[in-house]
Amino acid sequence: MSDRLPGFSTLAVHAGAQPDPTTGARATPIYQTTSFVFNDADHAASLFGLQAFGNIYTRIGNPTNAVLEERVAALEGGTAALAVASGHAAQVVVLQQLLQPGDEFIAARKLYGGSINQFTHAFKSFGWNVVWADPDDIASFERAVTPRTKVIFIESIANPAGSITDIEAISSVARKAGVPLIVDNTLASPYLIRPIDHGADIVVHSLTKFLGGHGNSLGGIIVDAGTFDWSTGGKYPMLSEPRPEYHGIRLQETFGNFAFAIACRVLGLRDLGPALSPFNAFMILTGIETLPLRMQKHCDNAKAVAEFLAGHPAVASVNYAGLASDKYNQLARKYAPRGAGAVFTFSLKGGYDAGVNLVSKLQLFSHLANVGDTRSLVIHPASTTHSQLDDAAKVKSGAGPDVVRLSIGIEDKEDLIADLEQALSA
Ligand SMILES: *Cc1c(COP(=O)(O)O)cnc(C)c1O
Repeated sequence: MSDRLPGFSTLAVHAGAQPDPTTGARATPIYQTTSFVFNDADHAASLFGLQAFGNIYTRIGNPTNAVLEERVAALEGGTAALAVASGHAAQVVVLQQLLQPGDEFIAARKLYGGSINQFTHAFKSFGWNVVWADPDDIASFERAVTPRTKVIFIESIANPAGSITDIEAISSVARKAGVPLIVDNTLASPYLIRPIDHGADIVVHSLTKFLGGHGNSLGGIIVDAGTFDWSTGGKYPMLSEPRPEYHGIRLQETFGNFAFAIACRVLGLRDLGPALSPFNAFMILTGIETLPLRMQKHCDNAKAVAEFLAGHPAVASVNYAGLASDKYNQLARKYAPRGAGAVFTFSLKGGYDAGVNLVSKLQLFSHLANVGDTRSLVIHPASTTHSQLDDAAKVKSGAGPDVVRLSIGIEDKEDLIADLEQALSA
C-alpha cells in the first residue's frame, strides 16, 4: 500500500470494513445476534469494567453497527461514532450526556420540524430548556448565552428551505461561551459539508435520509470530533466526574479524545436503549457506498429544477442556495462548493390553496414526510411537518402558508421538470 490517504469515495466504500476473518465474506455480514460469548470470566469482567473493548450485547454494540460507525467517523473526520435507532434518538443520547435538569441549550430556529417538536415539548419535560436563535443573525446566538447554557445546536443545511448556516461564525460563539457546537449534518451529508472542518465538536445525522439514501431504513449516528475539553469548570459531570457504574473511572481522563462517543454508548445507549438493528446498519452501509455518486446527482438535479421553477410564471420565489441570485449563495460557495443539497422550498403566487393543489397534481413526485430518498418527494410544510407552529413561527422558520418543499431524487431531471410543468399548469 502507498502512503496516500484514501479519498472520500474510497472511504465511502471501504472505511471500517474488511473481508470477514472466518468466512471470507466480502460484504459486511449482518451479525443478527443479541449477545456474544465471553472467552472466560476474566474477559467478561474486563468488558463490563471498560478495561477491554469487545462485544457484550447488541444494545451496547454490534459488529455490523461498528463498521457503520467507523465508516461515518472517517467520512466526517471524527475520532469515533455511535450508531443509534434514529436521528431523533441521536439527539436525545447526545444531550443526555451534556444537560442536567434546569440547563439551557441554544438552537437555531430553522430546524427539521420534528426537532422543533422534540426540543419544545419532550426535552422541556426532561428539564432541558431550549432558547431559540436566528441562524441568519449570529449576534442572536451571543445574546442567548447564559451561565446555564451547555450546548449550541444548528443544522448545516437547514430545514425546510435548504438555507446554509455560517458554521464557523457560530462555532466561535460556542468557543467563547465554552460550550460545544453540535451540527445536524443530515441534509448536507459529509459529501457536501464536513462540519468538523469548520469547528463543530459533535455531528449528528438522521441516517434515514441521504446517508442510507433509499428511503427504506431508519437510523441515526453521533460523531465525536474529539475537540472539546469536557473537564473545564465541572460543567459536564457525566464526562469529567467518577462514574459509579464503572468502578469510579472518569470518562474524559480514561478515553481522551473519544470520551464523548464512549459516554454516548456506555451511559446513553446502554441506559436509554435506542439501539440500531444490525439489519438497518447493513442497509445503510450499502447506501453509503454510493453516497458520492448519489449526492452529486441529487444536487445537479436540484439545481436544474430550481432554475426551471425560478423561470415559471406561477412561482413567486425559489429558495435554493445553489442559485446565483439566492441570499445564501455566498455561504453555499464557501461551505458546499460541490452543490447546495437537494432539499429546498419555493412559494406559489396562488398561496396556500395553490400549494395544496400542486401537491395533489404531481405524479412522479411522492407526497410524503421524508427527504433524501432516491425518489423525488414533495410536501406542503404549513399543513404537515410545521403545522404545529403558529402562523408567525411558520413564516420565521421558512414554512409559510404558500411554501412547498421539494426533496429532489436521482431520476432524469427532464422527467422531474415535466411533472412540475404539468402540475403547475393544471
Ligand atoms: C429526519 C431528520 C431528523 C430526525 O431523524 P429520524 O431518523 O427521522 O429520527 C433530524 N434532523 C433532520 C435534519 C432530519 O431531516
